[in-house]
Amino acid sequence: MFVIKCPNCGERDLSEFSYGGEAHISRPEWRDEMSDTEWAEFVFMRTNPKGVFAERWNHAAGCRRWFNMLRNTATDDILAVYGMGEEPPEVTANLPATPSGEAAIGSGNDEAKVIDAGDAADGGGGA
Ligand SMILES: [Zn+2]
Repeated sequence: MFVIKCPNCGERDLSEFSYGGEAHISRPEWRDEMSDTEWAEFVFMRTNPKGVFAERWNHAAGCRRWFNMLRNTATDDILAVYGMGEEPPEVTANLPATPSGEAAIGSGNDEAKVIDAGDAADGGGGA
């Protein structure tokens, strides 16, 4: 069971909540002058970190209010819950070690993996 602590109602099961995507995304002021590429970048591209991620949640089957959450995407640990319009609190999160030593911006992302020539020559892995 995955439990989320609603700031208004307390601890409730995940099934009562709706995910609202990445938090702290604001519409650009200069949108009338944006190219289609820039607009598509704003609309569709989001960060996908392995680690601390700020996201919006709605307690759809409860108080129906929105709130922000800091979650460790590597472990699903909920690090903080805070109100809309508030700045995220300082938190620390431990990332689990990965066997291949891949970058912290998502496993399986080949473009993000850094391969050191020295490591490749001696057959070693990791960065
Ligand atoms: Zn609630």
